[in-house]
Amino acid sequence: MNVEALRGIVGKDWVITKREQMLDYVRDAVFNSVMPKVAENVILVKPANAEEISQILKLANKEKFPVVVRGGGSGLAGGAVPTIDCVLLSVERLDKIEEVDRANLMITAQGGVTYESLIEAAEDAGMFFPPKPGDVAAVVGGVVACNAAGARAVKYGVTRNFVKGLEVVLPTGEIVTLGGKLIKNAMGLDLLHLMIGSEGSLGVITRAVFRLVPKPSYSCTLVASFNERLEAMKVAPLLAPQMIIPLAGEYVDHDLCEISAKYLGTEWPAKKGNAHIFYICIGETEDEVYSQAEAIAKICEENGAIDVLMAETRAEQDNILKIRGEIASAQKAEDSVGDFLDICVPPASLTELMESILEIEKKYDTRIPVTGHSVDGNLHPTPLKELADRGLLEQVKEDIYKETIRLGGVISGEHGLGTIRLHSTPLWPEPKIWELMRGIKKAFDPNNILNPHRVFPD
Ligand SMILES: Cc1cc2nc3c(=O)[nH]c(=O)nc-3n(C[C@H](O)[C@H](O)[C@H](O)COP(=O)(O)OP(=O)(O)OC[C@H]3O[C@@H](n4cnc5c(N)ncnc54)[C@H](O)[C@@H]3O)c2cc1C
Repeated sequence: MNVEALRGIVGKDWVITKREQMLDYVRDAVFNSVMPKVAENVILVKPANAEEISQILKLANKEKFPVVVRGGGSGLAGGAVPTIDCVLLSVERLDKIEEVDRANLMITAQGGVTYESLIEAAEDAGMFFPPKPGDVAAVVGGVVACNAAGARAVKYGVTRNFVKGLEVVLPTGEIVTLGGKLIKNAMGLDLLHLMIGSEGSLGVITRAVFRLVPKPSYSCTLVASFNERLEAMKVAPLLAPQMIIPLAGEYVDHDLCEISAKYLGTEWPAKKGNAHIFYICIGETEDEVYSQAEAIAKICEENGAIDVLMAETRAEQDNILKIRGEIASAQKAEDSVGDFLDICVPPASLTELMESILEIEKKYDTRIPVTGHSVDGNLHPTPLKELADRGLLEQVKEDIYKETIRLGGVISGEHGLGTIRLHSTPLWPEPKIWELMRGIKKAFDPNNILNPHRVFPD
């Protein structure tokens, strides 16, 4: 890797070669137990714009060195970890919100803008950007590259539903614009949507145009508590048939809420039960919000809820969200988790999935803590490290994955395959799909320069 040539492109201050100066860059948010090994020779570069990224990728193709893209480093699949000797390309300097366009209800932001700044800019203008991955450090490029989702996907869907345009630097160095501020676009194959969720394998995202929606005026959060985990899960699929679509419906084990509340020095408000689902309702009028909340509370009470509490003030709602959002950090601090899974099944199959998890717990005499965006069928079981100590962790994961696939699901709903889930891909039932994906990668990246050894099994 030609350090001098890289300095010539981005300036000497933006090329870092000493490991001690890049410690925060060589890992992502993956749990320590599955953190991939970082390579010895990594050069961190921080280009200022698409043109500099284009020159780096042209150089990489000429000299045949790999480039790994890094956004906010909040990924949960090891995708941004430099597991091979490479140039690690951080997009952090592409940090401008270029336009909030009220006439078209769209926002244009560079690839390194943090998710937090993006939602703030939209909300300051009286609008709303629904996708909400749990970590505010995530940046525009990373969120689009992972097709991130989060709690609000129940009502609004995932990031893909909001991306209208992208500027991308292709692995071979050309800069292309895909889509734009358009509601309709029928111009041939949809490369825009191929790029969304490609986890940095097909190009570096340097700019994105997102559709916005009107900011809801009212919200409330209700927490329904159940004695049994399965009872809570059984309620989640009962809303859709009654045409009730809340903003979010999050499943949490009670003990995980307590661990997270303790970690934050606060209190989880629901004291009864072993399992909770909390629902967020939004609307244009208080009546609309409360009639939805009441309908959900009634369904919960008729189906085994032992308590339902309503959080109305902003502070009460924020407390619940904060505790939910920090469960992963609290689990990390305890250092008890072997892996953080991201399985997704059709929403109506959620109960069967939970039944399978309970069976697997019994089979291996273990406990598998669970959180999840339950109403959309996406769960995050966290098999414990003690399974690894007994040599059983991989077997337990395989059992969970096989059950997920049996129910018509996928082994990643929102975090992606990155580097850590590749060894599980042989479980995918259709090899032809991988063959097609590898063909597309070859067309975009003939020298396998960008993000190699991740996303696609070698
Ligand atoms: C506490 C916590 C909660 C989370 N909750 C959720 C959740 O609810 N829903 C959810 O979907 N995710 C969640 N995540 C995961 C994470 O926030 C998302 O995957 C996010 O999209 C990652 O963005 P990032 O900028 O941090 O990307 P990184 O971690 O930096 O990178 C992720 C992948 O994207 C690629 N990439 C990064 N930037 C670019 C770019 N500009 N162009 C092309 N490729 C790029 C990288 O190479 C890598 O493969 C959570 C993470 C944490 C730590």
